[in-house]
Amino acid sequence: MRIDLHEIIDVPGGRVAFDYEPDFSGVYPEAVLGEAERVRAKGEIVNTAGVLTLSAEVTARLRCLCDRCASEYEYELRLPVRAVLAEEQFDEENSDLYLLDGDYADLDEIIHTAYVLDMDTKFLCNENCKGLCPKCGKNLNEGPCSCKGDISPQLAVLQQLLTDK
Ligand SMILES: [Zn+2]
Ligand SMILES: [Zn+2]
Repeated sequence: MRIDLHEIIDVPGGRVAFDYEPDFSGVYPEAVLGEAERVRAKGEIVNTAGVLTLSAEVTARLRCLCDRCASEYEYELRLPVRAVLAEEQFDEENSDLYLLDGDYADLDEIIHTAYVLDMDTKFLCNENCKGLCPKCGKNLNEGPCSCKGDISPQLAVLQQLLTDK
C-alpha cells in the first residue's frame, strides 16, 4: 500500500495512522505454508520536528513447516517496525531509512523488508524438537522409536564394511 503523506510532510506534529492487511505472497519463505490469521500492519507516521518516523506492529498467525520433524505448526508473528522516511538519502549507514516517492511512502516495501531482516533462519515447531529418526523416520516428539540406540559414525562404517563382504 502506498500512503499519501502530503498533509504531514511539512507539518511538524502531524500524523497519519494506518491499519491494513498487507499482501505477503512472494515474501514468505517456503517453510511458511500460509496464514491462519491474516497478516495485519497497524501503526502511524509522525512528523517529529520535520523528520517523518514510522512505527508499526505487524501481527499474524502463520502456518509453518518444521525443519526438523516436517510437521505443521502455528507461529505467532509479532514484529515491531521502525523506519525513518526521507526525501533524500542523508545517512548511508542507517538501514531504517526509506526514501519517499514524492509525497508517498511505500508501506509494503518497508514492512516486507522489516520481515525479511527479522525472519528466523530456522523454522522449528519447538526449540527442543527431536526431529525424525534417521533410520525409521518416526517423529521422535511422539515417543522413542524401536530402533536400537544411536549408531556412532565409526560403527556405521564398520557395519557397512561387514555388509559389503
Ligand atoms: Zn519439529
Ligand atoms: Zn527409528
